[in-house]
Amino acid sequence: MASFQTHIAVAAAGSLTASAVCIETGLINQPQALALFALGILAGILPDIDSDHSIPTRLVFNILSFAVAISAILIFQGQMNLFYLLALALMSALSVRYIVYTLFARVTEHRGLFHSVPAALLFGLSTFALAFYLLSLSLNLAWLSAAFVSGGYILHLLLDELYSVNFIGVSMKKSFGSALSFFSRSSWLSYLLLYAAIGLGLYILPLPYDIVLI
Ligand SMILES: [Zn+2]
Repeated sequence: MASFQTHIAVAAAGSLTASAVCIETGLINQPQALALFALGILAGILPDIDSDHSIPTRLVFNILSFAVAISAILIFQGQMNLFYLLALALMSALSVRYIVYTLFARVTEHRGLFHSVPAALLFGLSTFALAFYLLSLSLNLAWLSAAFVSGGYILHLLLDELYSVNFIGVSMKKSFGSALSFFSRSSWLSYLLLYAAIGLGLYILPLPYDIVLI
């Protein structure tokens, strides 16, 4: 598999190109491009959160616990006094960082479900839901954020696959095919649930204004 640094470098290059194209075509302004650029890089290391104690895992869970603390403050502000509000934010951050993280590390298998195309799509849809409903971004910008996340994620999977080809001897390593998977018989139920969640998401979430369905 590709190293952490390689993933960051490739994700940065891909994300930079994509955000430059979006600026050129007038889809977004510069601050939005910067946010999408960062999002694309983060997505480029996201699949490796399934390898316990890796840098991406710690990074993602630190960001996640911070985001949960901020959300708790935003949701409950005005409903309780400052002391309880801060205590609640701290408690929720710590439980994400330690309890959810431990459970997550226990149930995930490296290069399992997280290294798959449906996982990339589901992360994209979740990004859309967060950006649109929680951050109140415009419909198009929320979908664009989703595209950056899914795109960065798939770029990571492609890179992992590429690294499992031994170019010198042109032979395949055993890990070939384990990163960019669409389905696996051994965990068919999990895949079925993933696809069901994607289907449900596409059914209930609003599409961008520009897409006209006939
Ligand atoms: Zn990987």
